[in-house]
Amino acid sequence: MMSRVRSKDTVPELIVRRMVYGMGYRYRLHVKQLPGKPDLVFRKARRVIFVHSCFFHQHSCGAGTIPKTHTPFWRTKLRNNVKRDAGNVLALNQSGWRVLTVWQCELKDRAELESRLRKFLNGANKQ
Ligand SMILES: [Zn+2]
Repeated sequence: MMSRVRSKDTVPELIVRRMVYGMGYRYRLHVKQLPGKPDLVFRKARRVIFVHSCFFHQHSCGAGTIPKTHTPFWRTKLRNNVKRDAGNVLALNQSGWRVLTVWQCELKDRAELESRLRKFLNGANKQ
């Protein structure tokens, strides 16, 4: 498990948690039994949220550029992350979970993010 890049309780994750909590939703954190150990889990509504670092999960925003040093190492590592993320989403979808990925860069526009979160969680049980 040393290769895991997603650490618990990152700042972007805390921000998303606070926003969702403020909307009145309650959730579990880092549920180990689910693929990818999603950051926020809304069990009854079968929805999960991942909060991803743009670099480590290679977001298309441009923050995912491979470093100029140790390039082969990073290329392999980051490619594996992306592959694993896709596999996790697929596995979750196949067992009836809906998945929202929040990217670190999306925290710049809180109003927009909040409306995405609301849309995704709409209808979810608030407890
Ligand atoms: Zn991004």
